[in-house]
Amino acid sequence: MSNNSEFNLIATYFQSHAQQAQHVVHGIGDDAAIIECPADQQYVISVDTLNEGIHFFTDTPADAIAYKALAVNLSDMAAMGAQPVWFTLALSLPRVDHDWLTSFSQGLFALAQQYQVALIGGDTTRGPLSVTIQIGGLVARDRALLRSGAQVDDLIYVTGTLGDAAYAVAMQQQQQPLDNYFIQCLQRPQPRLEIGRALTACATACIDISDGLAADLGHILERSQKGALLYQEQLPVSAAMQALQLPASQLSDYLLYGGDNYELCFTIAEQDRTRLEALAQHWPCSLTYIGRITNEPGLRVQTMDGVIHTVQQKGFDHFV
Ligand code: ADP
Ligand code: MG
Repeated sequence: MSNNSEFNLIATYFQSHAQQAQHVVHGIGDDAAIIECPADQQYVISVDTLNEGIHFFTDTPADAIAYKALAVNLSDMAAMGAQPVWFTLALSLPRVDHDWLTSFSQGLFALAQQYQVALIGGDTTRGPLSVTIQIGGLVARDRALLRSGAQVDDLIYVTGTLGDAAYAVAMQQQQQPLDNYFIQCLQRPQPRLEIGRALTACATACIDISDGLAADLGHILERSQKGALLYQEQLPVSAAMQALQLPASQLSDYLLYGGDNYELCFTIAEQDRTRLEALAQHWPCSLTYIGRITNEPGLRVQTMDGVIHTVQQKGFDHFV
């Protein structure tokens, strides 16, 4: 059998690194995997594809592509408050490049080990470079965080900072030099898994920001049939972003519409505020109160001088 055969590629780069995991009865190697679901829990399942030239630049290192493909799926688990357990990988490759596959496999399993999530199967085909990961996680019965639970007067929070990854995309498109901080924000988002799980105790709605704050908070508003008022000066800006001294309107666009962010945006009842802020003392990132849920539909932003603008619920479009 050729060294490049589908079966050798799977055995060398994927099967040999896949770890044993709880709930996985049977992983890679048969026609399908077998997974156990504990009686008091529910499965939470999601899938995301990254295509070359659409979701990542052609010169992105293979380990960064693998990291991001798994990280965005882990982020969906975080947004649901779920504990990720397993994932599958459908990989389409234009050619067999062993250096590329070695790096890809390293990037993938470094993150998989960090979060104890097991590769249980996949598919390997020839075609344009594309990476699809499907992920499965567990959540206590009926405790998953949905988009639909926001109530009038709930407080809106966001983890971390906004706009950094979108700024990285814009600079790379313009072939401008970029500080490593921004490259890390774009290529290595931190899935907020511990935070998502903690939020199952208090959040009324939650989403991860993949398309931009306005678009993704917009999904919460739509599903909850509510509106929101955000406070412009509260939107969290990183020190690196601040140091750029961008014109105010440009900064505001990055914060509201910048995608590829993978922070969590969620709502809680006012009475849970103290409990939440105590929990957040132990989190690896900042937590910022940015606005309130309103009865009046639509998304509005109040500037420092008290003027209120209506915000379009659209994402920052990096690729047009
Ligand atoms: P089938 O022909 O039955 O679909 P395949 O030959 O595609 O099976 O795959 C053989 C085994 O290898 C299966 O268990 C499958 O899940 C696994 N597999 C294939 N590609 C990958 C991959 N990229 N990552 C992990 N497991 C894979
Ligand atoms: Mg197959």
